[in-house]
Amino acid sequence: MTEAVFRLSQQRRVVTELPGPRSAALAARRAAAVPAAVASSAPVYVADADGGVIVDVDGNSLIDLGSGIAVTGVGASNPAVVAAVAEQAAHFTHTCFMVTPYEGYVRVAEGLAALTPGTHTKRTALFNSGAEAVENAVKVARLATGRTMVVAFDHAYHGRTNLTMALTAKNMPYKQNFGPFAPAIYRMPMSYPYRDHLPGPEAAQRAIEQIERQLGAGSVATIVIEPIQGEGGFIVPAPGFLPALARWATAQGVVFIADEVQTGFARTGTWFACEDEGIVPDIIAMAKGIAGGMPLAAITGRAELMDAVHTGGLGGTFGGNPVACAAALAAIEVMRSLDLPARAREIEALVLDRLETWAAELDVVGDIRGRGAMLAVELVRPGSADPAPEVANAVAAQALSEGVIVLTCGSYGNVLRLLPPLVITDELLTDGLDVLERALRAYGSRD
Ligand SMILES: *Cc1c(COP(=O)(O)O)cnc(C)c1O
Repeated sequence: MTEAVFRLSQQRRVVTELPGPRSAALAARRAAAVPAAVASSAPVYVADADGGVIVDVDGNSLIDLGSGIAVTGVGASNPAVVAAVAEQAAHFTHTCFMVTPYEGYVRVAEGLAALTPGTHTKRTALFNSGAEAVENAVKVARLATGRTMVVAFDHAYHGRTNLTMALTAKNMPYKQNFGPFAPAIYRMPMSYPYRDHLPGPEAAQRAIEQIERQLGAGSVATIVIEPIQGEGGFIVPAPGFLPALARWATAQGVVFIADEVQTGFARTGTWFACEDEGIVPDIIAMAKGIAGGMPLAAITGRAELMDAVHTGGLGGTFGGNPVACAAALAAIEVMRSLDLPARAREIEALVLDRLETWAAELDVVGDIRGRGAMLAVELVRPGSADPAPEVANAVAAQALSEGVIVLTCGSYGNVLRLLPPLVITDELLTDGLDVLERALRAYGSRD
């Protein structure tokens, strides 16, 4: 196992108020040029980023606990990724795989066949975004089964295109007044142990009964599910929930699509979150962490499903861009050589230790959960399970003012989520957690 090397000093350093004057000037220009619809959770403008730090245009060095939403697991300027990108860009930036193909695409497909769960024969198609991957997975499932109905779950997030908006549960900000949405999508209850207190098999039975009663199993093309929900609140289903659903899907000829766009690529302590309970999805959708920050997405699926699609039925101008493919090959090699799945488990041990203290001592902490380097704190009104989104927002704002970037999520907007780069140092992570803890303690403790 090799060690991560860093170009930028891995420490928090706040030299202006945050956001600083240069960021504020850029924010003013942005307001005149970019719609408010495209929002930023930490409006500090980036000059440089490496490992666990983001350096802004005012010279502040901030601790990155978001990885650009679970993307830069290997860091935002990993030297191996940077070199692979430069080398490929110097030769060709694009030819379009659908016009004149190249080896990088094929190598990524071979790599993902080896890396994803299951020993069955697989095929892989590449795209640009997570939403595009999920949408194409649904296209394949519908065509291969000849059925149309799609099952999605409460709290799900699958993207912002028309079909993936329909799959996504939360109205604001993702769906409000953007409809009408793609038809034949049905939402079923998720396992949410903190709120439903149901064992996994019972939660699965509740969903399966509704599917059979409302839709009829024989009409369902696919169930699409995040093995750990991301935007919906880092909800980890109770043990047994996913295996029961997967078994039912197999028995009914329903394609089981795992949306591992956020959970994939070592994030949860295994290469893919499905591995935790031995789930072998029929199709797995990937994006975010795949290529060290370059835009790339993929679906890897059973050969018989993927090959059911007619020639030319899948593709896209930029899908599997050669520079993004080179970045993915380099990033995956870095994950392997640094053993980032193991590093994610180390991060889990370090962070969970702290979260457990917070849960024991702080009234506002309703639940702590997650796996690997995908961990969350659900905040509630003391003495209840009522969501406290204002506390999540206040803590994130306070952390930012002290140089720590932390994201919120959840159907109720009340979850602090920790998604540090997997290469972050223990010292930096600990400093970031100290800042968060001070902010949280400002909101009251148990006596
Ligand atoms: C981010 C995300 C998507 C959408 O990916 P984009 O690249 O933003 O289109 C889909 N599914 C999950 C689980 C995600 O976290």
